[in-house]
Amino acid sequence: MRKLTSLASSLVMAFASAGCSGEEPGTLPAAQQALATPDTTALEYSGSGRWFQFGQAANPTLPWPAFELKSFSARIDYQAPAAEVQMDRIQVVEPDRARPAPVPQRVVQVVTGTNAWNMATPAGAAPGAAPAPQPQPAAVEERTMEIWTTPHGFLKAAAANNATSKAVEGGSEVSFTVDGTHRYVGRINARNEVERVQTWIDNPVLGDTPVELAYSDYRDFGGIRFPARIVRTQGGHPVLELTVSSVVKNPKLDIQVPDAVRSFSPPPVTVAVEKLAGGVYYLKGGSHHSVAIEQADHVVVVEAPLDDSRSSAVIAKVRETIPNKPIRYVVNSHVHFDHSGGLRAYVAEGATVVTHEMNRPYYEKAWAAPRTLNPGRLANARPATFETFAEKHVLTDGRRSIEIHRLAGNGHNDAFAMVYLPAERILIEVDAWAPLAPNAAPPPSPSPFAINLYENIQKLKLNVRQIAALHGPRLATLDDLRSAIGPAPAGGQ
Ligand SMILES: [Zn+2]
Repeated sequence: MRKLTSLASSLVMAFASAGCSGEEPGTLPAAQQALATPDTTALEYSGSGRWFQFGQAANPTLPWPAFELKSFSARIDYQAPAAEVQMDRIQVVEPDRARPAPVPQRVVQVVTGTNAWNMATPAGAAPGAAPAPQPQPAAVEERTMEIWTTPHGFLKAAAANNATSKAVEGGSEVSFTVDGTHRYVGRINARNEVERVQTWIDNPVLGDTPVELAYSDYRDFGGIRFPARIVRTQGGHPVLELTVSSVVKNPKLDIQVPDAVRSFSPPPVTVAVEKLAGGVYYLKGGSHHSVAIEQADHVVVVEAPLDDSRSSAVIAKVRETIPNKPIRYVVNSHVHFDHSGGLRAYVAEGATVVTHEMNRPYYEKAWAAPRTLNPGRLANARPATFETFAEKHVLTDGRRSIEIHRLAGNGHNDAFAMVYLPAERILIEVDAWAPLAPNAAPPPSPSPFAINLYENIQKLKLNVRQIAALHGPRLATLDDLRSAIGPAPAGGQ
């Protein structure tokens, strides 16, 4: 009986929200009418919840790490189209994981048409300096997706892109393709609400990466119906969980492209070579470095960061520096996407991936995913071959040994490797510690990641002379690391 009553009342609600147009409940036209889509040209919604850092899981079996989202607001102009998202967030420190003390972050992300930028205080600026636009051309695809996956954006894009509808239990499934590339599939329920939207965006590790939006608890926010609960997942784990507290229909928005963004062209990908020892080359020139090591009849590259374009430039520089030897191995420090996005380019070259055993199944699954959005030159890449390890692995040509050690117990990642060359006494590491630029202010307290790195060096009795960090402006010494972590902790053995 209760069931019947609630069914009856939901039908009444559906009819009420569909108005007197006679549109059949659960269909695209009914939802467009119920959510007042045609006369909603802009929206602002705000709230709080959690944000998660995509591609930065602490190990490949865990979800993306959480940040508390103290405030969130999105201002969307559906006509431009343009959007500005503002977030105040701070990382959640898990009780069982030593992380540096989290720092509150204010993030302002903007997109209009084919331009994207952040408003941020420039690196190295004095505290309190005014935020300035920082071009983010690689973010256009994702931020555009965020516009067309909102309930109103989805309905507008459906109307503009010849959507097809089919009846499904309790409503309809609506699908369409934007610009011939990005496919959107959404579900409209019997209350004429967009309750789910799916799409896919490109990622160097995951290929066509699924993005799913779940909208629930629709309410009337001062004359506009909007979900009070939004959950967005990307690559299978949440990236946003938002409780919406206010919605403004048709706010006045005027998002203009700053000159610095309009005139920006991305700098070419460059690779600078610094010889560290006979046959050992530090490959810098970007935000993420690599090291190439020449063996008797092949080359070992440590780290394949970012994406295919970085890998292509590094591989070309390796060929130029060490001619006529194939790259037989690529060593991977950890699964974070900015450190693994270039691996497939080496797989396509025939290199074996050397990584911690926890990472292998993750890469195998990720690299088997479809790559229709950005096939690139790797479309027909051969299946990857791996050499994995739990604690230690050695690559040798009979003359030079390359030791790969697990960085055990490091809060940054659980399947984390560093590389040591015992003859040259060179340590290669990343994300455990990065040397600072000469004039940079040190952090208020030493990073537990750096302390753990030092402890691992001591425990493994590595006689380190130089540290080639794969982030940072310069080569460092063990003394530099020691002074960065401060005095030895009391009671240490
Ligand atoms: Zn990392």
